[in-house]
Amino acid sequence: MRETGRFAPSPTGPLHAGSLVAALASWLDVRARGPQARWLIRIEDADTERCLPGMGEHMLRQLADCSLLPDETPVWQTQRTAHYDASMRKLQALGLAYPCGCSRKDIDNALERLGRRHERHGERVYPGTCRDGLHGKPARAWRFAAEKFESTQPGELRWTDRRLGEQHQNVGRDVGDFVLRRADGPWAYQLAVVVDDAEQGVTDVVRGEDLADNTARQILLQRALGLPTPGYLHTPLVRGADGDKLSKQNGAAAIDTASPEAALAALDAAARVLGLQAATAASCSAALAAWVPEWRALYNSRPL
Ligand code: GLU
Repeated sequence: MRETGRFAPSPTGPLHAGSLVAALASWLDVRARGPQARWLIRIEDADTERCLPGMGEHMLRQLADCSLLPDETPVWQTQRTAHYDASMRKLQALGLAYPCGCSRKDIDNALERLGRRHERHGERVYPGTCRDGLHGKPARAWRFAAEKFESTQPGELRWTDRRLGEQHQNVGRDVGDFVLRRADGPWAYQLAVVVDDAEQGVTDVVRGEDLADNTARQILLQRALGLPTPGYLHTPLVRGADGDKLSKQNGAAAIDTASPEAALAALDAAARVLGLQAATAASCSAALAAWVPEWRALYNSRPL
């Protein structure tokens, strides 16, 4: 199998210091594995409502300004809906996807009746109301029968993150039966990312630590669909002055790549977050090449 990594940004805003860390890390992880390995870019525009027109192209330009060039033509999730459809049909045939007619209010009421609160990051842990049917309500979403599938698996779901170490999660209990597709169309990130990573032959997922909590859900879906599980490495987050994770939502500034010097400075800042030495090279491509052996030593990326 050819080692394959990817950077998979959502085009909801320009690249900022935090997203550049994930881009750089995934690039270095591939290059550290040797010339046969592939680095791909996938524009995750499946959730069309949150995406901004032209932003995917803009991000590709920002990456190119930093000499982060993919080995293949970037793919766009909106062009891949047939793949998501096929996987959804498979889950339905397996009895692992069901329609749900609950509004947020319905879920809140059901949780209240059960004496439960929004237990997880303020999110609702779906109590499984529509598992046995829609009770006359119109479908609002399709959900993955996480609890049902998990009950067929031996023990709690465990995986090893190359930076964070041993991880485990009981998805049914901690997250609930999660959404695969909203009835109004858009595919959920969890399903799209699993289908795409498998279909593109991704062997190593390197992305920001804010996404680590999604990994158990994704591994569960991979198992349900009979897909391989890649390796995972979640990178340190860049924090804003308030100590919160820097994100498009809290107004993180776009990286400046207008000049080669500015692009190199942005890359250098990202490299420091990853624990790499300051760049002494005069260009992005030379700095990138110098970080490859350092990355290999720090994060143990060996050819398969
Ligand atoms: N599209 C996701 C984001 O921008 C990242 C997906 C992933 O790397 O798994 O947050």
